[in-house]
Amino acid sequence: MKLRTKFMTAIAISLLILTTVDIKINADREKEIMMKELKNWSFLFAENVRISLNTLMREGKMDLRFAMFKSMSDELETLKDVRVIRSEKVDNIFSMMNKKDVIPREIKTIKRFEDEIMKLEKQRLETVRKDKIDDIEDEISSYKENIANAKENIKNASVIPKTDERERPKDEMDRQVLNKGEAIYAVTSDNARVLIPYKVKRESCSLTTGCHKYAKDGDVLGAISMEFSIEAINNEIKKNNYKTGFWGIFKLAIFLIIIVVLLTVLVIKNIDALLTACRKIAQGDLSIRVPVKGHDEMSELGLTFNKMTEDVGIYRDQLIHAKETAEAANVAKSDFIANISHELRTPLNAIIGFSEVLLSGIEGELSKDQKKDISYINKGGRHLLDLINNILDFEKAEAGKIEMEIISFGLKYIIDDLHDIMAPGAREKGIEFYINYPNDFDEYVEGDPVRIQQVLTNLIGNAVKFTNNGHITVNIEKICESANKRALKISIEDTGIGIRQDKLAHIFDKFAQADTSTTRQYGGTGLGLAISRQLVELMGGEIGVESEEGAGSTFWFTIPLK
Ligand code: ADP
Repeated sequence: MKLRTKFMTAIAISLLILTTVDIKINADREKEIMMKELKNWSFLFAENVRISLNTLMREGKMDLRFAMFKSMSDELETLKDVRVIRSEKVDNIFSMMNKKDVIPREIKTIKRFEDEIMKLEKQRLETVRKDKIDDIEDEISSYKENIANAKENIKNASVIPKTDERERPKDEMDRQVLNKGEAIYAVTSDNARVLIPYKVKRESCSLTTGCHKYAKDGDVLGAISMEFSIEAINNEIKKNNYKTGFWGIFKLAIFLIIIVVLLTVLVIKNIDALLTACRKIAQGDLSIRVPVKGHDEMSELGLTFNKMTEDVGIYRDQLIHAKETAEAANVAKSDFIANISHELRTPLNAIIGFSEVLLSGIEGELSKDQKKDISYINKGGRHLLDLINNILDFEKAEAGKIEMEIISFGLKYIIDDLHDIMAPGAREKGIEFYINYPNDFDEYVEGDPVRIQQVLTNLIGNAVKFTNNGHITVNIEKICESANKRALKISIEDTGIGIRQDKLAHIFDKFAQADTSTTRQYGGTGLGLAISRQLVELMGGEIGVESEEGAGSTFWFTIPLK
């Protein structure tokens, strides 16, 4: 993803999140305010209803309540339900009012009708005419009927009137408001509900006509329960939220466009120029410079970049010059070494050759001391020759002047020959020398037989040199370096002095010796392993070592198999 795309995506995502959170917070806050308003309004409304109700109650027109609420709820479209919850107290008041108003009146009526019946019965006894008697009896039975009606009225007045279904407490909120006499407000997802109790207030009530004749001050007579649908309000809030959201996204788009324009003008253009310059530099063109305008951070970056490129160009030229000088010096050094080696080898060969002639006794028998002195001369000459040969080889290898003759040849003969040459020296030190070939080993390897022999001589020679007791084993195994690359791994394992771990990493460097004191004890130049590495690598193999101080070493190298 390009930098500008990443930048824009990050800004867009963060702004989108911020706007969404903003919308959500605003919506919640708006809803909260609406709910508060709704609560105030519904409480006010319910209070008015309560006052009206109290007036009606004082006037003894209790039964009109429902008609009143009905017409109110018809007028208020969003009002879902208005109920009056009647408490037990009001039932008692009804019953007592009925008793007081109906029973004494009906008792008087019964008394009057019984007196009339008594009078009519007297008349009937005195009357003889048949038609007259029938009239009197009709009148008596009509009075009896009236008495029965009056008794029925008394009976009905003493019964507590059945509570209207609409008036019963229907849930916990109803019961709570009736018990505590405190207003309650509740909002569910699409409904708001308010319950306002109506209580007895002695000051504003007439003792003779009002409700308070039968109830104490503070008694809860009932409650008004009102439910409003707030669906319309919720829909309005939702609509408003959408509007705010769309407006927010529009603002976001404008903001993004401004940011992109600013970024392109101020930053991205310059970064593109820098990128083009970097690509050219990567291709080696250090003459490139970025255009610099103005005095802001980007132009400072451009200036610094140009300065850096200029410096890198200067350093590169200096390095090329230094390299060329060093290479020329190296060539001169190699030539010098080659010449001097040749010059040194001629007298050295004479020293070694003539000392051997003297030692062989051809020129006459030597005394014991003379023999000892001449063998010192011979040994020193050989050591010097070895050193010169090693230096020459190393120089040649470093300069890439070693010519390899890569042929395929049987390795077994070379190893066996080496065993024959080196085993006597090892045996002299009391060391056993073993060779482990794989079964039916008759492998031909690809390489230069002279150089492989040189590497093996170096490694086995070191093993003999640095081992004082125990054994030396040459292990040969076939390995697969990759699917189609087979090789021979030759390991030279000894039980000698071993090498410290911190020295192992540099042991193949030229003139590296694990312990300089060993030079004094065992001799050597520190060039054998460096030459061996170069020879093995020139033949396409690898070389390495595992060792533990005091426990012995295993040097190994690989040569590709034919
Ligand atoms: P040198 O002529 O000193 O032997 P080499 O390059 O052959 O030079 O070896 C470098 C050093 O590596 C040696 O001086 C010695 O400290 C260490 N070394 C090489 N072979 C062995 C070995 N088989 N056991 C212990 N140390 C070894």
